Amino acid sequence: MQSQLRIQNSLTKKKEVFEPLNPPNVGMYVCGPTVYSEVHLGNVRTFLCFDVIYRYLQYLGYKVRYVRNITDVGHLVDDADDGEDKIGKKAKLENLEPMEVVQKYTNNFHSVMHQFNILDPDIEPSATGHIVEQIDAIKKLIDCGMAYQTNGSVYFDVEKYNKDSHYGILSGRVLEDLISGTRDLDAQDDKRSPYDFALWKKAAGGHIMRWNSPWGQGFPGWHLECSVMSTKYLGETFDIHGGGMDLKFPHHECEIAQSKTFNGVDPVKYWIHSNMLTVNGQKMSKSLGNSFLPHELFEGTHELLDQAYSPMTVRFFMLQSHYASTLDFSNDALKAAAKGYKKLMNGLKIAKSLTYQKEDVEVNEKAVQQINQIMENCFHAMNDDFNTALAIGHLFNLLKKINSISTNNLKTAELGREVFDKMIRFYQEFVEDVLGLEEEKLNNSEGILDILMKLYSEAKDHKNYEKVDEIRASLKGQGIVLKDMKNKIDWAYEE
Ligand code: AMP
Ligand code: ZN
Repeated sequence: MQSQLRIQNSLTKKKEVFEPLNPPNVGMYVCGPTVYSEVHLGNVRTFLCFDVIYRYLQYLGYKVRYVRNITDVGHLVDDADDGEDKIGKKAKLENLEPMEVVQKYTNNFHSVMHQFNILDPDIEPSATGHIVEQIDAIKKLIDCGMAYQTNGSVYFDVEKYNKDSHYGILSGRVLEDLISGTRDLDAQDDKRSPYDFALWKKAAGGHIMRWNSPWGQGFPGWHLECSVMSTKYLGETFDIHGGGMDLKFPHHECEIAQSKTFNGVDPVKYWIHSNMLTVNGQKMSKSLGNSFLPHELFEGTHELLDQAYSPMTVRFFMLQSHYASTLDFSNDALKAAAKGYKKLMNGLKIAKSLTYQKEDVEVNEKAVQQINQIMENCFHAMNDDFNTALAIGHLFNLLKKINSISTNNLKTAELGREVFDKMIRFYQEFVEDVLGLEEEKLNNSEGILDILMKLYSEAKDHKNYEKVDEIRASLKGQGIVLKDMKNKIDWAYEE
């Protein structure tokens, strides 16, 4: 029997058995990027974590509606409540229309996601596409007395909300403590209290992103879009809400306060937060100047890199840690990941080539039992809060069995057709569908490789060992090793 999926819920801080509100449907919302610059590797880690969660839920048979938004307005510089919009600032700097900035970096985001084989969400709504809904939500919040208007801006009244609810429930903060550690508001500040946050901001003179509203020309606050779009596409309460750990406070705390006020119910059943990718122990971030861009990795051009690393190597590197742990960037770990990835891919190649051979041999009960146990272990690992690190370890054990078949130390007939088929299908599906690892195209196309293998074979037949060695060496330089099999020549990635 497979164990039940358990999720570490950031809200209750406990591992909970996953019980969707409306099985087999699952609603999942993940906060997407603010599209004002190229995504860095830290961002990739977060979206990759949720990609695997999305993939695994589907593998288990759930019908997932995955919503991942695009923030294209309202996210101000330094996550502040006042000041310049990140996109507006970039537009001014580059002399572009803000929507050109949005398009440029949305394209970049999509292409990076595809390079890492991160699946598209089912819905990808944008904040500027939902201004009307955000204005309606603000009206509701004002009507129920939880928001107030000053000088063309509207703020959420956090102290009032905190009287009957707990502002800080997700991150374990207490409002009184927060306020006591904060400077007093400036006399000219529009807010009543420092933790009140903007729902709508009046657009100052130079602010280029602006819309009409009942409160004058302005733009929505950053936190509002996620409450509004998650409600619109997933309902008032939905199953999973995710994002990077740094969004827990204040972004997700504010989302809870808004949604709970205008919907009257807790918005999310399971909160999941992925941990940070760090460089020398420090969060990778654009503002700290320690971020890597994906193309710098693929080309090996960043000063901290010893060499280039392929997208799938980086994907494998990230999957080798649990999403809730921090992951520190290191050349050594990436080099080890490159080896591990190739090993897993060589296994995939073998698995795809193996066929069941009917033979008159006895069933090897021990091998059958071991193989079933390994597959069970993989499920256990993933069911224990999506532990990809552990699951990969078990997959390597399964690979040993697959290799034994390929080297003829274990016969397919010793497993019986059912177990053999199950094992091969399981390995393939876990590697490709759940972990999302795919074979990377070689620089030299498969056709050229075939020709070289033919030449190699001919040279061997003619006992031209100089040529044999030459072909071997040149392919080795490309990371390919030739394998002399009984009846044919095959190749594998160099491990
Ligand atoms: P942003 O575009 O800055 O809003 O970030 C997009 C997503 O990337 C958010 O979910 C962040 O939490 C996440 N993120 C930012 N930096 C890192 C990092 N160093 N490691 C992991 N995730 C990150
Ligand atoms: Zn959000």
